[in-house]
Amino acid sequence: MSSVSPIQIPSRLPLLLTHEGVLLPGSTMRTSVDSARNLQLVRSRLLKGTSLQSTILGVIPNTPDPASDAQDLPPLHRIGTAALAVQVVGSNWPKPHYTLLITGLCRFQIIQVIKEKPYPVAEVEQLDRLEEFPNTCKTREELGELSEQFYKYAVQLVEMLDMSVPAVAKLRRLLDSLPREALPDILTSIIRTSNKEKLQILDAVSLEERFKMTIPLLVRQIEGLKLLQKTRKHKQDDKRIIAIRPIRRLAHIPGTVEDEDEDEDNDDIVMLEKKIRTSSMPEQAHRVCVKELKRLKKMPQSMPEYALTRNYLELMVELPWNRSTTDRLDIRAARILLDNDHYAMEKLKKRVLEYLAVRQLKNNLKGPILCFVGPPGVGKTSVGRSVAKTLGREFHRIALGGVCDQSDIRGHRRTYVGSMPGRIINGLKTVGVNNPVFLLDEVDKLGKSLQGDPAAALLEVLDPEQNHNFTDHYLNVAFDLSQVLFIATANTTATIPPALLDRMEIIQVPGYTQEEKIEIAHRHLIPKQLEQHGLTPQQIQIPQVTTLDIITRYTREAGVRSLDRKLGAICRAVAVKVAEGQHREAKLDRPDVTEGEGCREHILEDAKPESTSDTTDLALPPEMPILIDFHALKDILGPPMYEMEVSERLSQPGVAIGLAWTPLGGEIMFVEASRMDGEGQLTLTGQLGNVMKESAHLAISWLRSNAKKYHLTNASGSFDLLENTDIHLHFPAGAVTKDGPSAGVTIATCLASLFSGRLVRSDVAMTGEITLRGLVLPVGGIKDKVLAAHRAGLKRVIIPQRNEKDLEEIPGNVRQDLSFVTASCLDEVLNAAFDGGFTVNTRPGLLSSKL
Ligand code: ADP
Repeated sequence: MSSVSPIQIPSRLPLLLTHEGVLLPGSTMRTSVDSARNLQLVRSRLLKGTSLQSTILGVIPNTPDPASDAQDLPPLHRIGTAALAVQVVGSNWPKPHYTLLITGLCRFQIIQVIKEKPYPVAEVEQLDRLEEFPNTCKTREELGELSEQFYKYAVQLVEMLDMSVPAVAKLRRLLDSLPREALPDILTSIIRTSNKEKLQILDAVSLEERFKMTIPLLVRQIEGLKLLQKTRKHKQDDKRIIAIRPIRRLAHIPGTVEDEDEDEDNDDIVMLEKKIRTSSMPEQAHRVCVKELKRLKKMPQSMPEYALTRNYLELMVELPWNRSTTDRLDIRAARILLDNDHYAMEKLKKRVLEYLAVRQLKNNLKGPILCFVGPPGVGKTSVGRSVAKTLGREFHRIALGGVCDQSDIRGHRRTYVGSMPGRIINGLKTVGVNNPVFLLDEVDKLGKSLQGDPAAALLEVLDPEQNHNFTDHYLNVAFDLSQVLFIATANTTATIPPALLDRMEIIQVPGYTQEEKIEIAHRHLIPKQLEQHGLTPQQIQIPQVTTLDIITRYTREAGVRSLDRKLGAICRAVAVKVAEGQHREAKLDRPDVTEGEGCREHILEDAKPESTSDTTDLALPPEMPILIDFHALKDILGPPMYEMEVSERLSQPGVAIGLAWTPLGGEIMFVEASRMDGEGQLTLTGQLGNVMKESAHLAISWLRSNAKKYHLTNASGSFDLLENTDIHLHFPAGAVTKDGPSAGVTIATCLASLFSGRLVRSDVAMTGEITLRGLVLPVGGIKDKVLAAHRAGLKRVIIPQRNEKDLEEIPGNVRQDLSFVTASCLDEVLNAAFDGGFTVNTRPGLLSSKL
């Protein structure tokens, strides 16, 4: 039998005061550090810069609430465990703290505290694992029987566990390879014991005493496991009995089963009749129902129409003809609710509140339908849901994307087999009240087909003059929709049918800045994801830098939808880890020991003495936080999808960055140009529309007419830029077709760069329409475009002078990071886009050399 190698600890130790868990020599524990004293200790003794320094700490258990940070040192437990910090993980979330992984070395007792601030330091005396263990041999002989007995119980316990779990197998090996005197400490820290019991073992300095005290603990654990195994077997037997029951029912004699069904059907019809009688449906609907019921009664059940009619009647009695929720509207409460659920989006929230206030004062619903227009994932649906919540109404979302058949809205006539009501009536059936909030999602994606125009059907639904008797084809009787509150959403107004657009009040919802996204993630998305995955902040921590990494390197979007998805992926990965941990724990679990209030048992806490290695992964108990840093990100999400590439791409003449607006938000857009021998052809490639092509022609014409002024020449030195020259303009990146005049300035700048051979500044982006005479005209979507430039890390943004007023909408922090140049003509644009300006006068040197 090997003996434990002796160690020697310093005579003075810095003290780490813990109040949860007791560290015993030879075992490893994670402890959370958040009191001022302990934080100081970690910073000044363990961390130098960011690396871990090896220092031996004195861990003093059972300190009354060290988090209280009282000035005076609390009374200290006399005996502690000298420990080595193996790992330090720091985090600022949810508050500054460290998680230490510490391994116990040996016992010590405090002789005297010699310093209290900023963290206590004590003079100590080592109590075991000393060089000359007094009377070692004698102790071993005397203890022979006791230690044998102890060993037997330990083996019995471990063999009751599932050997297929690697940790258990390792434990079994440890029992044989470790010296006996190390076992009481290690086993105590592994089995279910309360903190009080662990403390008693710590205080048991004499080995004999320690063996004597640990044996009952082992026996208790063994008995508990036996009990557990018995109850598990019981449960399995129970399950089998339950499983047999339904089979018996199926084994009925065939005839009787059918009889039963028929009886049930008749019962159902009686019920249906009763429901129709007592239903509060309007007169006309009632009459139709009575008639249909009469037909139903005469029909044989095998007829296909039987099922059809029955379904119809069931829908009729189920519809909320008269059922509604009572509105409660308190504008102040509504504001609080909107603020609680949504960060930023002030304009939208303000407008929604105004809308609700007007409704409250007027006390009716007539008026325009609100339509939130903005990129995906900016919270349009979510605000709709909040509106329903503030009013105390039911919420139902109707997805209109891709709907191209008017019967989707208005239902199929009942003559079809498989006919059904439209989405509006279906929605009402689902919510069960006649005054829900219906969110008509993606009205801009309505299609059109031979089956009629769904937009026309929708018009009828939304028109307050008509919708009190909306007739669904399937229902064939009018239903009053006037109590329904409709809210629409869209990515762009461009494709909303004009008649529909006319009915709606458009509220623009722009994209978010990086800072806003971080706030949204930490206030809303992460807590929601944690809840959905059953995780707590004690299990996973995502610091803000990580969120920023996800935003800049894993997503490129105006909203927060992919951000949310990525956070979901992280939570899933962590949930698997945590569940694996719990699984391991469950194998060693024992239900009957529940002593030790609030104590954290480290059941499978790695019982690692220094002599065994490669076991730190097992040392991760499930309740310890997993910190998501960039390495973890890469593990979970793969390598970053977007890295900054801007300066790389601008390393040659003929490239400029424009700003585009798409229904998905603002985007930066590279414009590339090259020239080659040819006959003056202009080729354009990339996803672009007609207006963009016109801009390209305008830009070329302007440059040609100003070639002399700027001294631009073609390859053979002629001022006629297109002479023997073809130009190719390309707009790479992005599957979204871009159209609109706002690329004019970018194309002109890109060509100016091509023909002058000069590089465009790599930190500048621009937008603006141009005229043939080189004037710069205002364009739309400035806020989204500026946010896109900011996202891409650019520094200077050139916008048309007449758009200057739009800068007010840009959040202050974004405005600070960027410098804006307002331009009224192309000269000014070029001057701002090139280092040292572009005009002839500013560059005399170049001019003379070319002449
Ligand atoms: P949209 O309807 O605009 O496509 P959603 O309403 O579906 O976007 O929003 C996507 C997710 O982002 C939702 O979980 C939503 O709660 C969240 N979200 C978006 N904006 C905010 C915000 N300002 N504050 C809090 N959560 C937000």
